[in-house]
Amino acid sequence: MTDAASKHTCEAEGCSKVASLQCPNCVKLELEGSFFCSQDCFRKSWSVHKAKHQVENPKTTYDPFPSYKYTGSLRPVYPLSPRRAVPKNIPPPDYANDPRGYSRMEQSYGNAQIIAMTPEELEKMRHVCRLGREVLDIAARAIKVGVTTDEIDRIVHEATIERKAYPSPLNYYQFPKSVCTSVNEVVCHGIPDQRPLHDGDIINIDISLFKDGFHADLNKTYFVGNVDPESKKLVKTTRECLQKAIEMVKPGVRYRDLGSAIEAHATANGFSVVRTYCGHGVGKMFHSAPNIPHYAKNKAIGIMKPGHVFTIEPMINAGSYHDQTWRDNWTAVTVDGKRSAQFEHAILVTENGYEVLTGRLPDSPPSQLDF
Ligand SMILES: [Zn+2]
Ligand SMILES: [Zn+2]
Repeated sequence: MTDAASKHTCEAEGCSKVASLQCPNCVKLELEGSFFCSQDCFRKSWSVHKAKHQVENPKTTYDPFPSYKYTGSLRPVYPLSPRRAVPKNIPPPDYANDPRGYSRMEQSYGNAQIIAMTPEELEKMRHVCRLGREVLDIAARAIKVGVTTDEIDRIVHEATIERKAYPSPLNYYQFPKSVCTSVNEVVCHGIPDQRPLHDGDIINIDISLFKDGFHADLNKTYFVGNVDPESKKLVKTTRECLQKAIEMVKPGVRYRDLGSAIEAHATANGFSVVRTYCGHGVGKMFHSAPNIPHYAKNKAIGIMKPGHVFTIEPMINAGSYHDQTWRDNWTAVTVDGKRSAQFEHAILVTENGYEVLTGRLPDSPPSQLDF
């Protein structure tokens, strides 16, 4: 009777037969369990079961900064995948092939003048922003438990070059990937790596791409599986902060005033506003004047005029507004390890108001914020 204790039950949903077949991938990864009664049950379970293989495997992945004092529970999961290639027939921005990723154009303009776009330029800008939105929506549909941020990077990269566009983050001041993926306590500029998304995560996907001489830039924070109510409130409040700022946009408004509306709404909900990173002019350059802080009582320069195009992208924290940067020199995290959310749109100032250039498309996935 000794073998009774070692008998396994089939893992397939609704099956409770005795099982002796073990998933070969799980055996290789030395994962517990994963027994099935038949090939048939194994096949039926595959779409759900395969997520098990995407756990961080300590044999093939590692923390590149083991002595760093992390502020929360998130860790980088290396190695990063090799740099992805962009076809030669896609015109790149000026930093794409610079060894240090410097943009000559950005550095020569400085941060002084705000450039209004001509109608011809706006035509191109609208098109690029629409493509950016398409790519964001494609990335959004790939989000689920078990998918790595590197896989999201691959999807974004391929959707971008399919549209004959260059993924703006790639090599921008040496950023190694084609998209920023910022999970949980990451404020912004998270680097896609081998970490699979966990049930309950929040993830910001920040898309920027370059085509016909113009950059698009937008981002959105998404829920992964079952997210706790406090995180949901944080994400929803952040989206509302962006909306309140957008609704202020029209000719004559001072850029410095947008932060007041954002901070008032964030603090009314018990949250704080990140001060290190700001919205920015966007177009021929990835980042240019105006500089747009999201906090109140800032000293930003400039007044809105028709033809100005810029981003508003508040980062709102559940705890302290202070951030610090991982040793990869990119990933900005909250100092208390609490969560941070962000939303970004590219906005055009029109004759009497604004136009959201990166807004939803008829087939964009439904909002997760209607709860
Ligand atoms: Zn962005
Ligand atoms: Zn931006």
